[in-house]
Amino acid sequence: MKPILIRMRDGDNVAIVGNDGGLPAGTELPGGVRLLEKVPQAHKVSLVDLPAGAAVVRYGVTIGRTLEPLAAGRWVHERLIEMPAARELQGLPMATHRPPAAAPLEGFTFEGYRNADGSVGTRNILAITTTVQCVAGVLDVALRRIRDELLPRYPNVDDVVGLEHTYGCGVAIDAPDAVIPIRTLRNISLNPNFGGEVMVVSLGCEKLQPDRLLPPGSIAIGSASADTTATALDVVCLQDPAHVGFASMIESIVRRAELHLARLNHRQRETVPASELVVGVQCGGSDAFSGATANPAVGFCTDLLVRAGATVMFSEVTEVRDAIDELTARAATPELAQAMVEQMAWYDAYLARGRVDRSANTTPGNKAGGLSNIVEKAMGSIVKSGSVPISGVLAPGERLAPGQRGLIYAATPASDFICGTLQLAAGMNLHVFTTGRGTPYGLAACPVVKVATRSDLARRWHDLMDLNGGRIADGDATIEELGWELFHLLLEVASGRRTWAEQHRLHNALVLFNPAPVT
Ligand code: CA
Repeated sequence: MKPILIRMRDGDNVAIVGNDGGLPAGTELPGGVRLLEKVPQAHKVSLVDLPAGAAVVRYGVTIGRTLEPLAAGRWVHERLIEMPAARELQGLPMATHRPPAAAPLEGFTFEGYRNADGSVGTRNILAITTTVQCVAGVLDVALRRIRDELLPRYPNVDDVVGLEHTYGCGVAIDAPDAVIPIRTLRNISLNPNFGGEVMVVSLGCEKLQPDRLLPPGSIAIGSASADTTATALDVVCLQDPAHVGFASMIESIVRRAELHLARLNHRQRETVPASELVVGVQCGGSDAFSGATANPAVGFCTDLLVRAGATVMFSEVTEVRDAIDELTARAATPELAQAMVEQMAWYDAYLARGRVDRSANTTPGNKAGGLSNIVEKAMGSIVKSGSVPISGVLAPGERLAPGQRGLIYAATPASDFICGTLQLAAGMNLHVFTTGRGTPYGLAACPVVKVATRSDLARRWHDLMDLNGGRIADGDATIEELGWELFHLLLEVASGRRTWAEQHRLHNALVLFNPAPVT
């Protein structure tokens, strides 16, 4: 077996083992170092003799200091490294890095659903919003009937989904931080994949009343019909005295849904420029390959998308926190750099309130996958954002302004479900998800394109992974080649090609980020 060693930067004093199953003790590595012990796949090996307290450098960055002397050829795992303190948020370089403007990429299109407000959907879905969890059971029964009885009669509509959540009552709804879950739910209801057809199922007595969730004026933005009567909020209230018995509630929901389905059914795909893509990128179940294969390919694709005029959002505060100086430097203006700092500071305080810090992020699977700590994970994670300037910053649950384009930092927790939910609220119409350990993640509201970081995972999960980034480690494709492949795949999926998660109907729950107290 030919040993594969992946070293990210010239100055790095560790590299990761690329071979499936790892490499045995005694293996001579490219460059002449001999392994002193067995090193698992994706784990680090020291390339030089490191004294105790030496900086361990990967991605050109100190990811920690050695707790004991480590001779060249040792397995450098998380128990041998002390994590550095988080970078201070003062004195950061603010909008200092000015990459040369990349040439626009013209002529790329996809087939999408144009909405009345100019936004574009990649799917044609009826979403039924809920104000409170109490209605979820009734809505589920209604959804089954809508799918079985109505959807076959409206063939242009892809699906009907319930926007279910655990918020709405039993919460401190006037707490300052309650703004986050409320605007998240509001903005998801307005996602471009739903065609501006907003329908709400309410219980009646809950704290989150329909007009608080969607105040007058908030839904005028995306109606699929030019008919302005569609802007009145359509609410089915289960406690409405007109409802006598369970069956009448179901009947109300089904009947009202049909009005929206009839309008959505008139939507037709049309050719639109690639600039209408709003791509959310995130990773989950990461390993040390994430930052070497899949994420760099996603980063290359991010640059292509932004050059094509599209929007790309990257997120996950705890996974960018340790690279904040690189990101504030890349902000297009000092104001945007400051907005990033404020998101980091807010999250530092949020974590401190729970008596943890960013190191609470890494999972046992991350560590088994060779990621020693959050510093190393963050360096591999931010690669997804490519190299273009950061042209916008969103707080959790905020929505892109009309026409807002380019690379956007949308602040979210790193939790896969919360991040995906907040990116949907921001207006995402396509999701890219990289994974090394493997997760079957999928969303009902938006296609999810999954990219494996390792060929072994891509082979075993052949009908779950849409693209194999492991080919980069195997030497079968370059980062550029895979980045272009992903770019073309995204245009196809946006045009209607179904991802594996869609084919299997794999739908993770929406999870609202509620930093406010419950009562
Ligand atoms: Ca994640």
